[in-house]
Parts: sequence; structure tokens; C-alpha cells
Amino acid sequence: MRSALLAAARSPQARSFVERTPLTKPVVSRYVAGDTLEEAVRVTGDLLADGRKVTLDHLGEDTTELAQATATVHAYERLLAELGRTGLASGAEVSVKLSAVGQSLPRDGEKLALDNARRICEAASAVGTTVTLDMEDHTTTDSTLGILADLRVDFPWVGAVLQAYLHRTEQDCRDLSGAGSRVRLCKGAYKEPESVAYQGKDEVDLSYVRCLKVLMNGQGYPMVASHDPRLVRIAAQVVAAAGRTADSYEHQMLYGVRPDAQREIAANGTTMRVYVPYGDQWYGYFMRRLAERPANVTFFLRSLLTT
Ligand code: FAD
Repeated sequence: MRSALLAAARSPQARSFVERTPLTKPVVSRYVAGDTLEEAVRVTGDLLADGRKVTLDHLGEDTTELAQATATVHAYERLLAELGRTGLASGAEVSVKLSAVGQSLPRDGEKLALDNARRICEAASAVGTTVTLDMEDHTTTDSTLGILADLRVDFPWVGAVLQAYLHRTEQDCRDLSGAGSRVRLCKGAYKEPESVAYQGKDEVDLSYVRCLKVLMNGQGYPMVASHDPRLVRIAAQVVAAAGRTADSYEHQMLYGVRPDAQREIAANGTTMRVYVPYGDQWYGYFMRRLAERPANVTFFLRSLLTT
């Protein structure tokens, strides 16, 4: 089921079918703040008022048009200006997929993505907040980490995402565990071959814990991105063993997933940052969320049949 949904996440035919089904929208709204900037800012304000922090994702990925990449940069610039104007930038940063700003364009894609990401970093810097580069499938990992290194020369606060399911990630954690390095550790959301990624849940979880230990024992700022209650508990043990203070790391979860756990972690004095996607390009993001939890599919299908 997971493989089929992740394959469908990249299929134009499946996309057109799911997007044209009007009843999909109520299910999508569990995971997506809304289509517009205004809705994203309203949800951000509500979360900050509730004691959580936010990272905002303007939805879009695998951009094949230069104009689309430029439009995405403008969307982030407008978003960041609005966060500054409304005083929300102190608690809200942005997450950026490099494939949305040109990384996958055939000619000079990587350079274009670097230039575009730089513009987003400048807009973030102007309002006093930060940027984290999301991580996409394994074919982009080297390119994304290369762009991260370039950006960090001028913007040392740019964050990275590392995916515990990749065999390479423990070493990447070592490389990115220095002072000032912000690393979001997640399990990984894409369909990856055995040659590069652990396939079983137990193997991925064990890798997650090994990576977490490396990051927590380093000098950087780890961001523990998981809803898995067992990994959240283990994170607390690893934090204690590493002698870390509550302000030297944070937890992150996705908008719409385990909100009670989010509130509980925030109430216990650790930063809880919620990943809030918005925009009308929700298809790929939504399909990856369905793939993470089989019960979501039943819920989705039932709502299509009974509404
Ligand atoms: P799981 O074992 O998948 O889930 C544990 C429990 O959490 C489940 O039993 C269920 O109760 C709940 N849960 C998990 N997912 C869902 C869901 N979709 N709907 C409902 N309940 C759910 N992946 C990337 O590849 N690149 C990224 O840049 C990236 N950024 C992320 C940013 C944040 C803040 C988070 C939280 C995740 C991100 N991910 C990213 C996704 C991540 O890789 C996993 O696919 C996702 O978090 C599910 O893994 P899990 O650790 O929550 O554990």
C-alpha cells in the first residue's frame, strides 16, 4: 500500500484523478492549512498563541518551468514579509523544497535553486527568521547538501533535513553536527530502493536512534521530527544522557498529526514546531501523508463513499 501510494504521488494520471474529486478537499484540509497566504498566516497565529512554533511550507515540488520556480520565490518573499508585518516571524520560519525553486530544471537547475534559495534566505534574514531546506528523494541529497553548504557561508542558520532511512545518514549527521548547525532528523517519506535505504520499520527506527545520538552529542541544534511515541520517549533519554538543556533542541511534527502530543510536549517546556503547508499544489504532500498511515486511506475512501 505504501509503495503504491508513493508511486501514485508521482503519477500525473493519479494526480489528475485525485485533484478532480471534489470530496478530496475535506480530507486534504486535515493536513494543509489552506490555499492562501491569509489562511496560512491565520493558522500560524493560532498555533503561536497556543504555545507552539511553526515552519511554513509553500506547497510545490518537482517544478519543470522557470516561471513556476520564480513564482515560488515570490510566494516565499510575500509570506516572509507578511510574517514580519504581523509580528509572527519571531515564532515562525519557512521550509523550502529546492525542487520547487528550480533544482530539477534540466539546464543550470542547481545554480538556479541556489540563487532562488538565497533570495528566500535574504527575505528571511530581513525579518529575523530562518529557513530549513526540506530533503526530497535520494537522487537530490548530494545536491541539496551542497546548496546548504553554499548558503551557510552567508546564512549560517540555514537548516538541513536528514532522513534516517538512508544508509548514508549517520555519516551525514556526523558531518552536520558542528556548532550552529540546525538539523531536522526525520525517518524519510519517499519510495527509495534497497541499495540506498533501509526498508523495514525496525531498521529505520534503529537508524533514527543512532543518528539522534550523533546529533545530540554534537554541538548543533537537533530538530526531532517524528510523531512516533517510542522515538519521542527515546529522544528524552538521549537528551538526558547527552546533558542537553531544553532550549538546545526542539521537537517538530506535521500540521494535523497528533495535535495532543504536540501540545503536551510544548507544555513540558520543550519547543514544539509545527510544519504547516499551504497552497494549492498539495497533491504530492497529501499522498505522502496517506502513505504514512494505512488508516488514513480507509478514512479517505470512506469519506469519498459516504459524503
Ligand atoms: P511513523 O512510524 O510513520 O508514525 C508514528 C505514528 O505517528 C503513527 O503510528 C501515527 O500515529 C502517527 N502518524 C505518522 N504519520 C501520520 C500521518 N501522515 N497521518 C496521521 N498520523 C500519522 N520527510 C522527508 O523525506 N523530507 C522532509 O523534509 C521531511 N520533513 C518533515 C518535517 C517534519 C516536521 C516532520 C514531522 C516530518 C517530515 N518528514 C519529511 C516526514 C517524515 O520523513 C516521515 O515520513 C513522517 O514524519 C512519518 O514518520 P514518523 O517519524 O512520524 O513515524
